[in-house]
Amino acid sequence: MTDYVASLLAEVKAKNPVEPEFHQAVQEVAESLALVLDRHPEYRHAKILERIIEPERVLMFRVPWQDDRGEVHVNRGFRIEMNSAIGPYKGGLRLHPSVNLGILKFLAFEQVFKNSLTTLPMGGGKGGSDFDPKGKSDNEVMRFCQSFMSELFRHIGPNTDVPAGDIGVGGREIGFLFGQYKRLRNEFTGVLTGKGLNWGGSLIRPEATGYGCVYFAQEMLATRGQTLEGKVCLVSGSGNVAQYTVEKLLHFGAKPVTLSDSNGYVYDEHGVDAERLAFVMELKNVRRGRIQEYADKFKTATYTPIDPKGDHNPLWDHKADCAFPSATQNEINGKDAANLLRNGVYVVGEGANMPTTIDGVNQFLDAKILYGPGKAANAGGVATSGLEMAQNSMRYGWTREEVDNRLHLIMKSIHKACVETAERFGTPGNYVNGANIAGFLKVADAMLDQGLV
Ligand code: NDP
Repeated sequence: MTDYVASLLAEVKAKNPVEPEFHQAVQEVAESLALVLDRHPEYRHAKILERIIEPERVLMFRVPWQDDRGEVHVNRGFRIEMNSAIGPYKGGLRLHPSVNLGILKFLAFEQVFKNSLTTLPMGGGKGGSDFDPKGKSDNEVMRFCQSFMSELFRHIGPNTDVPAGDIGVGGREIGFLFGQYKRLRNEFTGVLTGKGLNWGGSLIRPEATGYGCVYFAQEMLATRGQTLEGKVCLVSGSGNVAQYTVEKLLHFGAKPVTLSDSNGYVYDEHGVDAERLAFVMELKNVRRGRIQEYADKFKTATYTPIDPKGDHNPLWDHKADCAFPSATQNEINGKDAANLLRNGVYVVGEGANMPTTIDGVNQFLDAKILYGPGKAANAGGVATSGLEMAQNSMRYGWTREEVDNRLHLIMKSIHKACVETAERFGTPGNYVNGANIAGFLKVADAMLDQGLV
């Protein structure tokens, strides 16, 4: 670690205590950027990185709501408006009991670089609440979303800040949020993405993060003259990203063998085929049940509970070629990374944001496997949100093929930018440096152009 990075990190930790995920995200980026800042003193002089680390604005607000029995609950709502140098703030809303300021700041910080990589004009933001949608009725979720939007609506807009989904926020929640925004503002605009198809949504948006992640893995494999055909794949999570990762893996002839939720995981030696994926989609998106039911239904599968306090996650301890972490941050620690490498995994495509700890990342980089960090590999979701914004502005909708082709081209272009940038800065094959540096340069130059704001 250079002196500059070390002193920057010390300052970030002192100024933002109790935000370990934010420190981790900043450290990873700062280490990559040391290569750029040496060559470009103008960025250091203008304190570009220091400015990117400090959110332009942080909103924190009370979200009171009533459950079906009439009991009152109070949650905390957030929106981090991180950086608007290249476009309106853009990034998802997360509803999960673990949500806090530090987690949302790490996500907003990563989003700045990711959005820059997509080639589309979007700044970075993130938001959410510590509300837990699990076990809540549709009416309770609606009342929560309406209360959340009753404050958020003053701060967002189609040219200011355009939220989307993330963990715990899918089509149902976006619908409730959009309805309340429209009611309060009396306008129908593309203020949120991930909307329903008959009220401004884009085809392929639900599929985009998972599909994009698999397209990225395909590009990485192509650099070694290989394809996904026949590859055994470990997938974590069973939500939006995991489901469409599995769908696209099947399309390319790969064999996904695991899925999980926060209670445990299933390993299916038969493979999660189209019929079994349809079962998971109904289980998770309609019945909102637990992944354990998969093993009750399909006898080739075994279910293993996951102990969150354990020192490793057994999901990552199976023989495989590829891994697609698609649940949450830090789900692959150093021990998990070692297990993956020992089991023969040589392709990692991060559908989730920052799913690998710094120790794990370093092991992947040292082993020189094809490691696609989340900023690049899961950028297809926000890229397609950008395409949804473009369609909303035109008041026109593209076909499924048109959006999918654009998504595919964007993922190829992100891959190319990572490869070329990593090479240009002397670390060929290092997608972490490639993504961090390529994402940074566009934002940094825009900030220099726009003066000290
Ligand atoms: P969903 O809410 O649809 O699914 C999340 C899945 O991960 C569920 O299976 C959930 O299990 C599991 N999970 C969540 N939190 C934890 C936890 N603390 N420990 C173990 N498992 C957990 O979310 P998405 O699929 O949308 O998001 C998954 C990841 O992908 C997140 O990191 C998100 O930031 C990232 N991402 C999402 C994008 C999108 O377009 N949706 C875009 C880019 C990145 P359970 O049901 O038990 O909670």
